[in-house]
Amino acid sequence: MSATEQELNDFRAEVSAWMKDNKPADPGFLLPQTFMEVGDEQQLEFLREWQHKVWSAGYLGMAWPKEYGGGGVDAKYQRIADQEMRRHGVPICFNVIGLGWAGPLINDIGTEAEKARYLRGILSAEDIWCQGFSEPDHGSDLGSARTRAVRDGDEYVINGQKIWTTMGNFAKYMILLARTNPDTERKYDGLSYFLSPMDVPGIETRPIRKITGEYGFTETFFTDARIPADCLMGEEGQGWRIAMQTLQYERGAEAGAAGGLAMVRVTIDDMISQLGDLTRDGAPVLKDPAVRDRLVELIMEEKALSLGDRRAHIAPLCSDYPGSLPLSHKLRATEMTRRMRQFAISLQGAEGGLYVGDPQARQGGFWQRAYFNSFSATIGGGTSQVQANIVAEHVLGLPK
Ligand SMILES: Cc1cc2nc3c(=O)[nH]c(=O)nc-3n(C[C@H](O)[C@H](O)[C@H](O)COP(=O)(O)OP(=O)(O)OC[C@H]3O[C@@H](n4cnc5c(N)ncnc54)[C@H](O)[C@@H]3O)c2cc1C
Repeated sequence: MSATEQELNDFRAEVSAWMKDNKPADPGFLLPQTFMEVGDEQQLEFLREWQHKVWSAGYLGMAWPKEYGGGGVDAKYQRIADQEMRRHGVPICFNVIGLGWAGPLINDIGTEAEKARYLRGILSAEDIWCQGFSEPDHGSDLGSARTRAVRDGDEYVINGQKIWTTMGNFAKYMILLARTNPDTERKYDGLSYFLSPMDVPGIETRPIRKITGEYGFTETFFTDARIPADCLMGEEGQGWRIAMQTLQYERGAEAGAAGGLAMVRVTIDDMISQLGDLTRDGAPVLKDPAVRDRLVELIMEEKALSLGDRRAHIAPLCSDYPGSLPLSHKLRATEMTRRMRQFAISLQGAEGGLYVGDPQARQGGFWQRAYFNSFSATIGGGTSQVQANIVAEHVLGLPK
């Protein structure tokens, strides 16, 4: 039986009260703005504790099966919990590769043994997950991945290199795409998919520094790393299909995520309230007609995105192009976020050049850092150009 409006309202009030009472105090060190910038143990442990607390309170994985640590209730409840997390500005639930893509994948196509083994640890934040898809020469062109997995008795031996592995240095498990057969006619048919442990000899990670000065991803090297053969998901040669399914979660076209905030969300209202007192030539910047013009465009874009997001959850309103809204949402939302943050810097005039750590920087340099970080989401999970190709081909039916 579906929940009544009254039940959902009561639930919203309950979550809101919980978030208000349990929102952690400022830890006194810089927290990452997204799950892609978790750079040190201090941040990691803080976020791990927070995610564990949210899950223990029953506000994470609400729609996942009860027997694997989920709540077993309608996904509507999770959406409400997420909205309240956002409204209260609580920290992120950082184990996103588990919560958002490995978990839904295991839920949908995993065996009972895989579900029992992995899902609870994802939710509780005990087991951090990373994704080993991209290689130094094969990011967008993922089908050409060359990391090798060779069967040897009860094990696979892995050799090769992955790159841009978000949280690679903290992860216990990796969703790994590797080549089990280099001789297939179609390159895609030689790939296999593994739920691989990271704590085996022969796997080494080296953190990569970002434009913000922060860390968050790694180079990941495999040198004769032996993983149990039962880490193979599905059959050998099915890796491409499973990887594409994973990307459907990552790009928002397929639902199933456990919930929680993946990034600190900042809205145009936040920008106005934080930067609205700026002046230029003695007058408020926000009174400048050119600035207002730009601001209204951004407000309209933000509103359209949020309405599109709501529409995506109402099946009869999406029957014309199923999947079109989530697929285009990633492209439009990440690009709009980047432009909005760039605008926030331009409002600051010369001060916009100050960065985190400079005592003169507005809001501690929050917007500058947010702008640099906003490039991550326009690249990770498929660049904007690749995403535009996908929308063109799969939604609009244009030729390749
Ligand atoms: C913050 C961050 C976190 C990441 N985390 C992970 C992770 O955890 N695991 C993981 O496996 N990967 C991760 N990635 C890697 C990401 O998936 C790749 O960077 C992305 O797929 C692009 O691949 P590439 O970097 O090799 O760029 P390339 O594929 O070399 O692309 C270079 C440029 O060419 C353009 N281009 C390429 N092909 C086409 C095409 N067909 N049509 C039009 N333009 C094209 C691209 O848009 C881009 O501008 C992460 C990346 C970032 C930035």
